[in-house]
Amino acid sequence: MHEMSIAMAVVGQVEEAAGPGGVRAVESVRLQVGELAGVVPDALRFCFELVCAGTVLDGAELSFDPVPGRARCEPCAREWDTGMPPHLCCPECDGAAAELVSGRELRITEVRWAPEPQPESQPEPQPQPAVDRE
Ligand SMILES: [Zn+2]
Repeated sequence: MHEMSIAMAVVGQVEEAAGPGGVRAVESVRLQVGELAGVVPDALRFCFELVCAGTVLDGAELSFDPVPGRARCEPCAREWDTGMPPHLCCPECDGAAAELVSGRELRITEVRWAPEPQPESQPEPQPQPAVDRE
């Protein structure tokens, strides 16, 4: 499954960024996903949860930033939204030499580490007894 290998790559990258023993948990991961990247968000979310189990990413939330597909025709310097399935012929000159400007993105844009839990053994600071001043 395509999404499974993507999920494994994403989890691997976050684990690598977390480093050995430095991070207890990951709160959320944000992915930039191009319209033409061929990723089904629901399928990726499903695989992500499976891959995360038992890692520091266990329970992490996955969110997506969709990037629209854009193409550009060099001769007329025109840019347009490709849509999906992508329309790659230039609307101006009907040329087929369009270059994809965006839409194939698939990268991590943000990882939120869970805040360090407060140590529970630390006693609450006791208020100092009031001292009568003379
Ligand atoms: Zn053109």
